[in-house]
Amino acid sequence: MTAPAVLNDEAAMRLALAQATQAHAAGEVPVGAVIVLNGEVIASGFNQPISTHDPTAHAEVVALRAAALRQRNYRLPDCELFVTLEPCAMCAMALMHARFKRIVFGATDPKTGVAGSVLDLFGYRELNHQTLIEGGLLGEECGDLLRSFFRERRAQQKALRLAAAEAGGQGGLPPGVDGA
Ligand SMILES: [Zn+2]
Repeated sequence: MTAPAVLNDEAAMRLALAQATQAHAAGEVPVGAVIVLNGEVIASGFNQPISTHDPTAHAEVVALRAAALRQRNYRLPDCELFVTLEPCAMCAMALMHARFKRIVFGATDPKTGVAGSVLDLFGYRELNHQTLIEGGLLGEECGDLLRSFFRERRAQQKALRLAAAEAGGQGGLPPGVDGA
């Protein structure tokens, strides 16, 4: 008899990275998440606010909703979430409301991260529930995916500006002005 395969942290983060790649393919900022219960993935999600017209459709929230539905419970006290980017305040509070046991993230987010980058919501002893948080797992790979996405997007925007400049005289910018 073989024991059921139990995911280790790195394997779980690799699955979150695969979710982030799906976001990338859909033209969304590449962030992915998986939720693990007793060593097994029970839900996954990737960032999709643009395609769903939903500003709350961050990877964590998408995965959290799927997991809660699956467990038929709004509280998931034995679950762990693996996400490729440091959570924002909205996601952090949603996870705390769900009483998550542990959160592991990859890259830090200096713009909206609340696990120490902008704020440290997880360090607020005054909050009614404490969730264990760990950062930096496969952080380089998680960050590289984001950096390559934004690099591609800047290149596309530059190409659009150049095309507009070449169309000069038709409402575009004059040649040699890139509008930056
Ligand atoms: Zn978020």
